[in-house]
Amino acid sequence: MGGLGWKSDDLMTSPTSLTASPLSLEQVNLTFHPRRSLSLELSTWLKRLSGRPAGSHGIQAVRGVNLALKTGEILAIVGESGSGKTTLGRLMTGLYHPDSGRVLWAGREVAGLNNKSRKNFRRRVQIIFQDPGSSLNPRFTAKAVVEEALIIHNLGSNTERHQRVAALLKEVGLPTEAAGRFSHEFSGGQRQRLSLARALALDPEILIADEPVSALDVSIQAQIINLLLNLRTRRALTLVFISHDLPLVRIIADRLAIMYGGRLMEVVDKSLLGKAPHHPYVLSLWASASGGGNNFILKGEPPDPASPPPGCPFAPRCREAIDICHVEIPLMTNFNPGFACACHRRRSPTEASNR
Ligand code: SF4
Repeated sequence: MGGLGWKSDDLMTSPTSLTASPLSLEQVNLTFHPRRSLSLELSTWLKRLSGRPAGSHGIQAVRGVNLALKTGEILAIVGESGSGKTTLGRLMTGLYHPDSGRVLWAGREVAGLNNKSRKNFRRRVQIIFQDPGSSLNPRFTAKAVVEEALIIHNLGSNTERHQRVAALLKEVGLPTEAAGRFSHEFSGGQRQRLSLARALALDPEILIADEPVSALDVSIQAQIINLLLNLRTRRALTLVFISHDLPLVRIIADRLAIMYGGRLMEVVDKSLLGKAPHHPYVLSLWASASGGGNNFILKGEPPDPASPPPGCPFAPRCREAIDICHVEIPLMTNFNPGFACACHRRRSPTEASNR
């Protein structure tokens, strides 16, 4: 599965204690307004592409997301390109703040944290990116890259920081002599190891990995995934794994949150995969991933985030759509503690609201 030749038994996927994590999102919305930030050239290009001025309504990146992490889990956020999964990851880290709704850390809104609490939040929630090269300062040696956060947070003496950097490089599988090299002297896989060492420097509780292997060769992907899983176990991390690779996350994740058009379509425990009454979009994704089931293969294009359809975002492509789907956005409904779904055709007896 996932092209990496693993069996699920090879991987350490069993969750530790799945109690509520301090990090949660409540009715989170974020719209980008390109006109305010894009160059004239890019705005003109977008206008030509879409037939209307860029940013006339903004890009609705994330809509109405409720999600609570569980301590020690691997939560996969899955979706096609443009589904909002990367934006959601950045909202979780405080890199973006929602237009409305709340990102909560230990019950307090991240956007309203004072300097001391925000610093603590940043220590506890770290992120690594798809392209580690672009997030590493090319003028910094590996030692400086990893040490920077320790200096900012005023942690340790020179000697202690030196020892800490050496230990972190070793932990992520880089040789001691790597400390003096610059990021361009590393391979792609080594750069991702270095960005991991930097993320781990502050002993985070939660690590968000945004497509951490999609830019790497297949052979290297397996090494980085195994490293992430080992670190997760050794450090009791909560891992949020953002990916478009459904077969891969099916193996490594404890829980999957599937996004489409900026909204959550389904949140499902791994143990219920294939047993739950899955969302039609999820059924299509599975079929596309396995190359079978013509009735479920996705046809058409994802919704334009600048002008999403008024009802269910998946309605224009959904083989099960009925009239209400085109006018009313379906609420996320809890079927049981391990499965929630936002679809007018999937109703449970306990019509709970979002989870
Ligand atoms: S709400 Fe309607 S359009 Fe959306 S996934 Fe369900 S059946 Fe399809």
